[in-house]
This record gives sequence, structure tokens and C-alpha cells, in this order.
Amino acid sequence: MTKVWAYKTGGIPDEYFNQSDTVPGPTKEEIRVITISKARLCEGSIVIDVGCGTGGLTVEAAFQVAPKGKVYAIDEDQSAIELTKGNVEKFGLQGSVSLTRGKAPEALLSLPMADTFLIGGGGPSLRAILQMAFFKLKPNGRVVINAILLETATIAIAELKALGFKDIDVSHISVAKGKQINSGTMMMARNPITIVSATKP
Ligand code: SAH
Repeated sequence: MTKVWAYKTGGIPDEYFNQSDTVPGPTKEEIRVITISKARLCEGSIVIDVGCGTGGLTVEAAFQVAPKGKVYAIDEDQSAIELTKGNVEKFGLQGSVSLTRGKAPEALLSLPMADTFLIGGGGPSLRAILQMAFFKLKPNGRVVINAILLETATIAIAELKALGFKDIDVSHISVAKGKQINSGTMMMARNPITIVSATKP
């Protein structure tokens, strides 16, 4: 069987993922690449993806950590869990992903200690999720927050500082994509995303 994605490098095109009108995602392909890079993954890493949505980041992370590692993907929305399951199967990564329907931070308690937290959802629970991440991360573990809202980014930065995370990095990414029109290639802007990442001491 031909693999849907037969490459070592990430950045799977957005349209390769099954999508739904009711579930946000996938995180856009260029943002996924930078997010995974900030996560500093290796084969065998244990990753927790909080708010897996369509599974865009779950799949990208699973490619990096397979076959020895695992991605624990959680979402409070049952349709997101089903969509992520379908995408994980599409890319042949069933052995490297464990799915949990539940709300963070509560649903994180039963998960194992992790090397990396990816946080793409959380809303009003973000502070509590970061506190749980600090507790659940191994020493030198990484946390990466993708923020659409400025408020999410500023809360994340303040809470990471308060918890004692080190090497806090804030990267604001704007991507524009070329669209072919009759007269040439027109650049169409996408929403900027703030990626906040840090290391547990
Ligand atoms: N990275 C994903 C998109 C994430 S969208 C992708 O590539 O597809 C954010 C998701 O977070 C949504 O599906 C939402 O249901 C989930 N979410 C928001 N707050 C949550 C919480 N407290 N616990 C669990 N899931 C949450």
C-alpha cells in the first residue's frame, strides 16, 4: 500500500486531512512545521496534545515519535476525537496515538509523564492546564502553546514565568499563500499565530 505521507519532513498539506465544519483545524501546515520544531521531538518522545481538533498536530507529532514514542491526544468534543481517529488511521499511525475524550486539565491527570505538551485549546482553563503541564512534564520537557488570541499568548507568557519555566520563546508567525489569478500570483494573508514555547527546568 502506498503511504499517504512517505516523507521524514513534516508540513503535510492541509487538504490531506479529513475535515469537518464543526471541528476547528487542522492547524495550517506551515504553523504545524514550526510548532513541531519548537516542540523538539525525537523518536520515543511522549507527547500530550491538548485539544487535538482534527488531529493535525497529533499526526505530525506521531510521525516524529513513532514507533517507540506515543502521542496522547485529548479533546472535550466527541466529533474531534472521531475526526482525529480517522486521520490517525489515514496516515497509518494507530500504534503511536492514544485518544481520550475529556476536558483539560482534569482529563490530563490519568495520562503518563510527558516530554512535550502541545496546547492548541484550553480557553479559560489555560492557566490550570499550564499548571498541570508543569506537573506532568519530565525535567527539560517542552511546552508549546499556539495562540490565535493575543490574550491567550499573554496569559501563557505570564503563567509560564510564574511557574518557573525557562527559555520562554514567543514567535509571531504570519503566513501568506500565493493564489493564481489571471494576471499572476496574488499573496493572500492568513491569520497570524503566536507560538509560545518554553522548557521545564
Ligand atoms: N491542533 C488542532 C486544532 C485544535 S482546535 C488541529 O491541528 O486540528 C482546538 C480544540 O481544542 C477544539 O477541538 C476544542 O474542542 C478543544 N478544546 C478546547 N478547550 C479544551 C479543554 N479544556 N479540554 C479539551 N479540549 C479542549
